[in-house]
Amino acid sequence: MPKPFKKVKLRHAENVKRRNAERKNPNYPRISFKSLFYVTRIYRKAVGARTIFFIVYRIYNSILPSITAVLAGAAVTAIAEAIGTRDLGPFIVLTAFLLGVQLMDIILGTINGFLSLRTYQDVYIYVSEMVTSKYIQIPLRVRESREFADKFNRVKDFASSIPSVSFSVVNVVSALISLISVVIATLTISPIVTIVVILSSVPSSIISLRLSAKRRRNWREYTRDRRIAWNIQNKILNSNNALEIELNGLGNYLIKRMIKADRHSQEQDIIDERRYLWPHFGSNILETIASFGVLIFVSIEIIHEKLAIGQFFTVRTLLNQLNSNISSLFSNIATVSENLVNATDFMEFMETPAKQSGEIKITQTPTIEFRGVSFSYPHSDVKALDNISFTLAPGDSVAIVGENGAGKTTLIKLLIGAYEPTEGVILVNGEPLSKINRDSYLSQLGALFQDYSRYEFATLGENVWFGDTNKAYNRKAIEAALAQADLSNLASTYEKGLNQILSKDFDENSTTDLSGGQWQRLAVARALFRSPNILLLDEPTSAIDAKSEYQIFKNIIEAQKGKSTVIISHRFSTVRKASQIIVLKEGRIIESGTHDELIMKRRGIYKTLFEMQAEGYN
Ligand code: ADP
Repeated sequence: MPKPFKKVKLRHAENVKRRNAERKNPNYPRISFKSLFYVTRIYRKAVGARTIFFIVYRIYNSILPSITAVLAGAAVTAIAEAIGTRDLGPFIVLTAFLLGVQLMDIILGTINGFLSLRTYQDVYIYVSEMVTSKYIQIPLRVRESREFADKFNRVKDFASSIPSVSFSVVNVVSALISLISVVIATLTISPIVTIVVILSSVPSSIISLRLSAKRRRNWREYTRDRRIAWNIQNKILNSNNALEIELNGLGNYLIKRMIKADRHSQEQDIIDERRYLWPHFGSNILETIASFGVLIFVSIEIIHEKLAIGQFFTVRTLLNQLNSNISSLFSNIATVSENLVNATDFMEFMETPAKQSGEIKITQTPTIEFRGVSFSYPHSDVKALDNISFTLAPGDSVAIVGENGAGKTTLIKLLIGAYEPTEGVILVNGEPLSKINRDSYLSQLGALFQDYSRYEFATLGENVWFGDTNKAYNRKAIEAALAQADLSNLASTYEKGLNQILSKDFDENSTTDLSGGQWQRLAVARALFRSPNILLLDEPTSAIDAKSEYQIFKNIIEAQKGKSTVIISHRFSTVRKASQIIVLKEGRIIESGTHDELIMKRRGIYKTLFEMQAEGYN
């Protein structure tokens, strides 16, 4: 029948073509031995000397079933022989051996149980430190890319699964040792038995490997869907969003979206699993038939006195052992390989170049000059900044004004060195920023952004002290910073004063949370506690009432005397005091000068905006 045969051949050719195309895809999940060694090394470093105990225990535990099967089989034969000879000596010796072997297993097993929990924690903590320490060294521009976000998601998956991955690696090795010992034990009884059993397990092993390869590919392909599901879940569970979600009645809809993304990410796994249902069933039947065949063969050998009676028992036990070893070997290989795919991402992540730092150290307030600086965000053709030039000398205060999206925050990000200009150069004391020692430069800077941090888990005092943890925790200095930010009364409202944990989520005795404006003032206090030589303020008082803002700015100006300040603000009462005002539009400087100079311009943007706001206040 040539036709169906041709069809099968065609389908096979198509499959090969598809698989080859898949492999050429740079996203194809590859497992390398390098990543296996990498995981083993992490495990060894985290676990230290205990590794030796685990190796000894695992080897012992792996060969134990074969030893027990052989000894127990011999014991059965010894009983059978004792029926004629009435000599129980050999049986007693064998039983004593068996007991000793089991006792040893119990002792080692108990120690193992105790050490395992500790080991699990050690590996987890070691890896989580590795990931977070590396993450903060990676430049912002790299962290912000979508590819990095996808990759970092898999890195996090890997980091949280690494304790179980390392255990699976150990399981693979012990299943292998166990398998070899069982094969040796069966070979001593009958090579035919060994060959039949191994051959019968080939189909199910191939199916396991295929399915796990598919699962690896799916895991990678649907990273984006998993990220969406997590993002939605975080939104729902984050108390900051609670009010908005409730008010908009968005909860149920978001849950539906989350489930849809979750289902979509897992659907292909189910489809693949279903495709292999019948082959799976068939391969299991084949294994069972082979096992029964082997037992019948052994029985016949015993009847013909070619094998001892106890060996029936040994073969039966070894058969069970062999089957469970093979399936545990492949299921562990599957687990390991599914997780090791992310190990490649993990290795790449750990090798991401850290932020660059130059040699020249900055020891006092530097002069910063933007010279013809342009900048586009990665993957964007639009210039967020276009040919910007200005100088910030010690003692200067520069205010940046402009509509939303004009490039104000971007300018600050470049000044900090989070991004590098795409054209032009930023000079610090006349030297390009890339030649300046990063830490010494950052120690001159202090910043307060629109999306400032709230350290909910920490105390009131710590929330201020986090501005500069290199300084001692000085209550006086902390209280002074709080006063400058118009928060002098806050500590006295708490029984624990500065030691009060700020969010009720983390303190069972607390019943109140801070308001948005209070959190922002706390961020101002943090920036002032740092007392930097250059203070960068990006709309620092958006959630603060006008009266408090006026007071806070008076305090900031006082504190920054002789030092530099860059401020972004929409409030002209604040902006007008700056020694230089820069008006940005679509990334370009369209006006600059002092308040008085700009207000003189006849058709100036600054003048128009100023008059509009002044009118609004009347
Ligand atoms: P402003 O602070 O003046 O409101 P930004 O400096 O935040 O404006 O943004 C300037 C431009 O750059 C805007 O068009 C904005 O969409 C874009 N932009 C801001 N941040 C990013 C980013 N991380 N990636 C890509 N584009 C960005």
